[in-house]
Amino acid sequence: MGSVTLKGSKVDLRGDAKPYLSFDLDGTLVDLAFTDLVWHRGIPELLARRAGMDLPQAQEAVLQEYRKVGDGALEWYDIAYWFGYLHLPGGWERLLEQYASQVRVYPEVHEVLSRLGERYSLIVLSNAAREFIEVEMREGGLAGYFDLVVSATSDFGLVKKSPEFYRKICDLLGVRPQQLIHVGDHWEFDYRIPRGMGIAAFHLNREGERAGPDVIQDLRSLPEVLEGGGYADRSGA
Ligand SMILES: [Mg+2]
Repeated sequence: MGSVTLKGSKVDLRGDAKPYLSFDLDGTLVDLAFTDLVWHRGIPELLARRAGMDLPQAQEAVLQEYRKVGDGALEWYDIAYWFGYLHLPGGWERLLEQYASQVRVYPEVHEVLSRLGERYSLIVLSNAAREFIEVEMREGGLAGYFDLVVSATSDFGLVKKSPEFYRKICDLLGVRPQQLIHVGDHWEFDYRIPRGMGIAAFHLNREGERAGPDVIQDLRSLPEVLEGGGYADRSGA
């Protein structure tokens, strides 16, 4: 497959004809504890210290600021922006490291990825900022499984996994949508949108509120679902 260029750096993709299988990161491979702690505890704690507030006051103040920006804006995802905007001491790198030990990979992830990696070229497609992805991949021991890691926000300036995002990914990989498989926990952005474009998307619903042929409750069932659906070659037929 050669290589692709992402944010000015060349990424070599393995030269065999394995089909591409992409995963969302937060809520799919890694649980939400780390990001929740950073945004809802770490940042309010720093604001509390800087502004002489108590923690609940600072949490409320931060929440209001987050709401004003909203998750449709790039700033929402940008921790450097929040450090600057709130005049927080200490630097965001230190805050991420403070909570790095709280990164937790779901129990089945390593087993499933090592199995699927034999048949598929594995990719991460996340809308988290690159700084978060890097800590999560490192602390979760995930980096070695993946041929390519893409942040919608950091790499493309897109806040959601929109049709435009998936089109860019397919162009980058040089495949048709039918030749990409995607798995993630967000009904709209990991399932409805990619399915609507012809991508073989599967919805991971760990709470078990949904059911259907494209819904899995646990990544353990993914290898079987993929084998059964004939997704193991690149033809995408
Ligand atoms: Mg997710």
